[in-house]
Amino acid sequence: MKRIILFGAPGSGKGTQADKIEREFSFKKISTGDLIRAEVHKKSVIGNKIEEFSSRGLLVPDEIIIEMVKNRVLSDDIKEGYILDGFPRTLDQVKGLSTVPAEEEMAVFLRVNEDIIVKRILSRVSCENCGNIFNTIFQIPAKVNVCDNCGSALTKRNDDTEDIIKKRIVIYRAETLPVINYYRGKGNLHELDASKDINTVWKEIRELVK
Ligand code: AMP
Repeated sequence: MKRIILFGAPGSGKGTQADKIEREFSFKKISTGDLIRAEVHKKSVIGNKIEEFSSRGLLVPDEIIIEMVKNRVLSDDIKEGYILDGFPRTLDQVKGLSTVPAEEEMAVFLRVNEDIIVKRILSRVSCENCGNIFNTIFQIPAKVNVCDNCGSALTKRNDDTEDIIKKRIVIYRAETLPVINYYRGKGNLHELDASKDINTVWKEIRELVK
């Protein structure tokens, strides 16, 4: 089982690149943001509990998110490997992940400057059905507000507002940069300039993954 971890600030392109890896290789994308939005949408017991965090741009408690990831990793459809998009985001989540064995692990850090991030996030739309991500400036869908992949409606996330983005960036710096430093110290972190366009970044990631 191979594990690929994608790191980067909100809007660095983790979700978009994870979709591409999933399409090209036999690895499954595990996006903790998508898992959370699905629970909130279902209005499940856990969904109602975590909505108060995610809708305000705060991190969902570690024990909840670690449990969600562990359950997903053990699913039958994950055979060759998986891509983590948005996890681990805290050092306690790193500890949680260390109890899930992987034969091979690779971490990729998508580095971008913050001006780009805010611009990218404010123009981001995603598919309500399949989760594919588009952008009304950089990655325009063929038909306005329609997903190229499955034909469902594209909508803006409710946490993609300027105020909440700023809060998410502050939390990213405080909680997730130490995680990235930890992986850098382990020596298996590949750092890419993710301010380049999507396809240039993708070519670099594809070379690393194959
Ligand atoms: P994302 O789609 O990765 O931007 O995540 C959206 C929101 O889901 C975040 O702002 C958090 O509220 C929550 N979330 C996603 N991943 C995690 C995580 N690993 N730990 C805690 N909260 C998370």
